[in-house]
Amino acid sequence: MASKKKPIYFFGNGKAEGNAKMRELLGGKGTGLHEMTRIGVPVPPGFTISTEICAFYYAHRRRFPRDLEKQVARALGRMEKTLGRRFGDAHNPLLVSVRSGARESMPGMMDTVLNLGLNDRTVQGLIQCTNNPRFAYDSYRRFVQMYADVVLGMKASSKADTDPLVAILERKKNECRVQFDSELKATNLQELVEEYKAEIKRRVGKAFPEDPFEQLWGAVGAVFGSWNNDRALAYRDLYHIPHHWGTAVNVQAMVFGNLGDNCATGVAFTRDPATGDKRFYGEFLVNAQGEDVVAGIRTPKPIAELGDAMPRAFSQLQHVCALLEKHYKDMQDIEFTIENGKLWMLQTRTGKRTGFAAIRIAVDLVEERIISKQEALLRIEPDQLNQLLRPIFDQKDKDRSSKEGRLLGKGLAAGPGAATGRVVFHADDAVEWKKRGERVVLCREETSPDDISGMDAAQGILTARGGMTSHAALVARQMGKVCVAGCEALHIDYNARMLRVERAELKEGDWISIDGSTGEVFKGEIQTLPSEVLQVLLGQSLDAKQSRIFQKFARLMKWADEVRKLGVRTNADQPDQAAIAKAFGSEGIGLCRTEHMFFQGDRIQAVREMILADDEAGRRRALAKLLPMQKQDFKGLLEIMGRLPVTIRTLDPPLHEFLPKSDDAIVELAQVMGVSVELLRDKVNVLQEFNPMLGHRGCRLGISYPEITEMQAQAIFEAACELRREGKNPFPEVMIPLVGSRQELHEQRVIVERVARATMKSYGVKVRYLIGTMIELPRACMVADDIAREAEFFSFGTNDLTQTCLGLSRDDAGKFLPHYVLQGLLPDDPFVSIDQEGVGALMRIAVAKGRKTRKGLEMGICGEHGGDPKSVAFCHEIKLDYVSCSPYRVAIAKLAAAQAALRGTI
Ligand code: PEP
Ligand code: MG
Repeated sequence: MASKKKPIYFFGNGKAEGNAKMRELLGGKGTGLHEMTRIGVPVPPGFTISTEICAFYYAHRRRFPRDLEKQVARALGRMEKTLGRRFGDAHNPLLVSVRSGARESMPGMMDTVLNLGLNDRTVQGLIQCTNNPRFAYDSYRRFVQMYADVVLGMKASSKADTDPLVAILERKKNECRVQFDSELKATNLQELVEEYKAEIKRRVGKAFPEDPFEQLWGAVGAVFGSWNNDRALAYRDLYHIPHHWGTAVNVQAMVFGNLGDNCATGVAFTRDPATGDKRFYGEFLVNAQGEDVVAGIRTPKPIAELGDAMPRAFSQLQHVCALLEKHYKDMQDIEFTIENGKLWMLQTRTGKRTGFAAIRIAVDLVEERIISKQEALLRIEPDQLNQLLRPIFDQKDKDRSSKEGRLLGKGLAAGPGAATGRVVFHADDAVEWKKRGERVVLCREETSPDDISGMDAAQGILTARGGMTSHAALVARQMGKVCVAGCEALHIDYNARMLRVERAELKEGDWISIDGSTGEVFKGEIQTLPSEVLQVLLGQSLDAKQSRIFQKFARLMKWADEVRKLGVRTNADQPDQAAIAKAFGSEGIGLCRTEHMFFQGDRIQAVREMILADDEAGRRRALAKLLPMQKQDFKGLLEIMGRLPVTIRTLDPPLHEFLPKSDDAIVELAQVMGVSVELLRDKVNVLQEFNPMLGHRGCRLGISYPEITEMQAQAIFEAACELRREGKNPFPEVMIPLVGSRQELHEQRVIVERVARATMKSYGVKVRYLIGTMIELPRACMVADDIAREAEFFSFGTNDLTQTCLGLSRDDAGKFLPHYVLQGLLPDDPFVSIDQEGVGALMRIAVAKGRKTRKGLEMGICGEHGGDPKSVAFCHEIKLDYVSCSPYRVAIAKLAAAQAALRGTI
């Protein structure tokens, strides 16, 4: 191997060869174990096989490096020495767990094997040591079952089928007339092990391996192998985790939470991961093994009750949690086991959290003086702010649903927000139904990692079993999905595709509503309302003092405003959109697409008259009808934005977009307009273009029909002059689209300037204004120095610039682009995140050339990329003055801009 790094890192007895900085090599779980050992937290000894070995394993046809066996034997020897037990020993056996652990946590996606080292001989040793045959056979039974599943690949053959070993277990429980595994006796469990082994031999064609070393290498290989199982691949695609990273493997001495009633196992968060509240939050099960808690098989108890059951261990756990939070300066997600009253920590990692919790925790940690404001800003994924804007249920409609008896039950409030959709029971169906345009709620007994794509497709997730740390709750929180978990009143019948509660039945396709902030589940649809934060921002019903989350959000935004260099404007064509954006702190309008205004009310009629007119006089007559309407539109926008700049773009789309397409609609329009159908059809045909995106659009329209630009300029300046007369201080910026040369801009500029001067003169007022251009063609970038002679500002239209730079049609690329991204041919969809190497290079050229001609040239971006955090960072890097995005992304863009500024200085 090329690397000089060690293949194996040992931890135990207060010493560790790894530390928190070695995440790439040891994975998240590994570094947690090493670091905890280092700082004196009780951790069972073990060793981590590095991610480099995983890479080697894949590069060498799934073979291990030659000397790895020796290294593993040595590390096992150190564990044996620490514990005084031996691996494979018939009297005092050392048992180990074998767990995955990637650089980024991928909860539940990869495999784990527990109790490894058991065989017919060592199980006797375990009985001797623990004096507990039931426990020993229970561990053995679990091990064989897990090994068969993970290493030998013995799973259910289809969704409808049950796992063959689970079926044997169910049969045994029936035979013994018991409900739970925990009620089976030692002899039953011993029989089960035999029955399992026989079934394994029958299905796999060879005997279950008795040699502990063979078991170990099988498990290590299987864990490496699980890096590339379907769900791990899907998960990495979803979260953009590179496929070449690989996983580490942690081999660690087993401690047992299932030795009796003074044993327990649990998972916890140092703060509430759903709301961010500062309270110790988690669940545990007495006399159980780790996987039981997360698998949702038994509903665990709230962690506070551990204080009653095992007060000493509980207070030690609280102490360890406080220590870990302080050490890592963040909320931790921990796993622990109590063996005969003694606490052992098995994991610590930074806890996944909802957007609500992310904000709350970051701001609280600043207030607790644990982190700085800058660190707080860097802690939050900008897109997480979206969750704060997610709708909530209309309380009146919800109350009505309750009164009508539609409240079906209550589960755990695992992912805040309100979701209404149709019931589906399988992940594949959720994906399918979503493709058809349906909103769905995925209803499951419990979810498993296989359900990940269905969870992503659903509006919300509802489970009948499992706690706040169950798979459904964990993944939903991370995805920012609405989730109600562990609603015990529900009975789901997958075969009948039905869910039942005492009083009601819902079939697949029926409507259901779930409130992820309260845990309530309702039959039918419930109206939704804007979120708490939106209600405060828009001055509806709530005020800032009543909303704690708003207060935290506002603080965070204030800190972002203090550090960001980029301005943030919004793309808005309507006063209500502008008002929302302003409430979010938008610093102007970066793009008003005037054509959107043409579709409102009956103005389309005047627009069509203008398009179909035979001559300039006819066009001017139609434009005169549009003038007062456009003026009112502009006045509304300019008035709302006060002194802030409002960038208004002249007409851009090809004219046929305003005409009907179908023959029926043409006939109807001909009647309305009092012209012959043939004439109208001819006009529509004449306007058809083979490639309208590269056709008669943008400034080319204003050049062919200067009267259109003239009318729009007049509307803008009349609106501004009227406001000026009213004592206001509007600031229009007139923007010419799709310019490719200075001459084009010059022609349009002359018109706008002439109209501006004449209008201001006739109103007897002066208005501040700028005239500039969109930069959305590669040629415009290359001749930006020349264009800048005519332009007072540039605004990058990265939608068209992407289209024209990559030669990718905006309207057709959807058919194949997702495949490109999935195959890694492109790192991201270039219409979502700026293609920095291509489009970005053109932008750099335009910025440099533009500023060379005109030093203070204002530069912004108004393509969709203005709200994409990665693209915002790029805009910061190339020193644009502002980004402009949709109103609901203003806060996201501000945070992304602040992060870009901080990353530039750190
Ligand atoms: C652009 O091309 O990026 C742009 C903002 O204009 P439009 O999307 O209206 O073409
Ligand atoms: Mg454009």
